[in-house]
Amino acid sequence: MGKAREAARLQRDLYSVKKTAMTRKPIRTLDDIFAWSYPEPNTGCWLWGRSSADNRNYTVPKAWVKDRTVSVPRLAWTLAHGNAGKQHVLHKCDVSICVNPDHMYLGTHQDNMRDMKARKRARRFPREKAEAIREDFASGTLITHMIKKHGASYYNILKALRKEI
Ligand SMILES: [Zn+2]
Repeated sequence: MGKAREAARLQRDLYSVKKTAMTRKPIRTLDDIFAWSYPEPNTGCWLWGRSSADNRNYTVPKAWVKDRTVSVPRLAWTLAHGNAGKQHVLHKCDVSICVNPDHMYLGTHQDNMRDMKARKRARRFPREKAEAIREDFASGTLITHMIKKHGASYYNILKALRKEI
């Protein structure tokens, strides 16, 4: 199977699992975490596939431990290396839903803020794309067509039209 097709299949599988609700099945070992993840063959990331709503906004996935929710990457770090204490568990790979402890490092709150800002910059909607969307709209292209053509969400198209991006 080609790499692109393999990646597409993973994406599809991940999506179908993402739709299932967060369960209360406990996580006790790193194996439990691995079992709920999708290893990404190219990057080595373990993409968390269990909690649902959280993953869509690139936020860190959460899971139940006893009666509270904890960050899964932090839990993975704890199971692999022990308690991180006051330090923050950060991603080297920059994939917030990755739960592979080998892809993490310990840092301070400041490191975390710096990384978050960098990620936000990287995620910014491309200006050329927003321009193209506005041009399409001016020439009468339907929004449903624009969603397909630009691979943008309805929400981002509206934002582009309002010149918010
Ligand atoms: Zn990773």
